[in-house]
Amino acid sequence: PSNLSSRTLLKGIPRKTLYEAENILKPLELTDDCYRKVMEIMNQNIEEGLHPDTHANANIKCFPTYVRSVPDGSEAGVFLALDLGGTNFRVLLINLHDQEVSLESKIYMIPQPIMLGSGDQLFDHIADCIFKFMCDHNLHDKSLPLGFTFSFSCRQAGLDKAILTTWTKGFKCEGVEGRNIVELLHAAIDRRKDMKNVRCLAVINDTVGALISCAHSDPDCAIGLILGTGTNACYIENLDNVKTWDGDNDDPKQVLINSEWGGFGNDGCLDFILTDFDRAMDNYSINPGKQIYEKMISGMYMGEIARLAIERLRKHKLLFEGKGSEQLSTRGRFYTKYISEIEGDDVDNFAMTKEILEELELTSPTDQDCRLVRHVCSLVSKRAAYLASAGIACLLNKMGRERATVAVDGSLYRFHPFFHDLMMEKTAQLIQPNLSFKIRLSNDGSGKGAALMAAVASRLPREEQE
Ligand code: BGC
Ligand code: MG
Repeated sequence: PSNLSSRTLLKGIPRKTLYEAENILKPLELTDDCYRKVMEIMNQNIEEGLHPDTHANANIKCFPTYVRSVPDGSEAGVFLALDLGGTNFRVLLINLHDQEVSLESKIYMIPQPIMLGSGDQLFDHIADCIFKFMCDHNLHDKSLPLGFTFSFSCRQAGLDKAILTTWTKGFKCEGVEGRNIVELLHAAIDRRKDMKNVRCLAVINDTVGALISCAHSDPDCAIGLILGTGTNACYIENLDNVKTWDGDNDDPKQVLINSEWGGFGNDGCLDFILTDFDRAMDNYSINPGKQIYEKMISGMYMGEIARLAIERLRKHKLLFEGKGSEQLSTRGRFYTKYISEIEGDDVDNFAMTKEILEELELTSPTDQDCRLVRHVCSLVSKRAAYLASAGIACLLNKMGRERATVAVDGSLYRFHPFFHDLMMEKTAQLIQPNLSFKIRLSNDGSGKGAALMAAVASRLPREEQE
């Protein structure tokens, strides 16, 4: 598959159709001036997050993580890790020895009623999964330290104290916001009488996991980025700039900052780039008015934005001769993975695209339909990739490192055929000319990162763990 220019893709579509379609889709195309404006506002918002006077109302919270340096490779032992916050919930068993990492893991479902139920139900379910996992691995009588990758916005008060500020990405369990999730996990473990020896020593965000597991092999690594169900980035900040910092001032004088950039735009500062499609999707989302930047970028929402645009074209009789389907008018039914599949399809026959459209009960789509649908998908993903690039460029400029590596993980980045290339191109355009950067996939960050931090924590003297 190649990233066709839209001119090539749209060749052969009648002028009138094209003109009307472009009019409808125009708002999805942003100018470089827009992206630069986004960077400028983001930069201000980050400053506000880092300063105690403005932090409370800041959109980009910039929470200090208490991760001050990257593990040095001497970490060793056997650890459990949990990974909660994306498409899947995973329990992992990780063995660290001589710079080597081996892991086994199992995916467990979080049924939707639990995602929307009570906090106790959620943590009971998690404890249940840990217990099953331990039994399957003959570990039920072992005492194991645990690292938890909990990929939601948390104010940290230490490596093992993370207070959830807001649920995102379709989770909304009662009684958890404002609470320390380590305490809730321990309480659930203690409610069972059969696994008292599991203790959580470290909680990290998935962005932090991506960064530290990549920094292990690449010392230039300075940003952790997630492009998956949700989006977020963390970066290395000088302690002097972190006015909200209340920890010690030992060397190294830096700390990882979990930006929580998904909340960018919550005060309306991104309204100037929102389209009708964004506003409609936001309106019926589980958290209207929240996570505005995340909703334009991440996998949980991109498919829906594309669906709304396709529906609009269809209603104007620019697609499928105006004939829709119940599937196509169903919210959430156009999955983000379709975008990756359609953009990766062979434009000579559109075999995959036709299969998807037929799955949506759109009978006998023409090549012209396929071309236009692909065009919609590419506009939505290009905007997402460019907006993420604006964020990355903002962080790169802010850090001002001559060389920096961005460690990325997440299903959107992994499966979209051009996300990486789009980001390379746009980030290069937006950064200061003296800077250079790489964007690299980070593997197993959520598991490895949590285990590494649990290992670091298990070595710290007791009082530092408080
Ligand atoms: C959460 C972040 C997380 C990101 C990617 C967002 O919705 O608030 O904490 O890092 O999703 O998983
Ligand atoms: Mg994940």
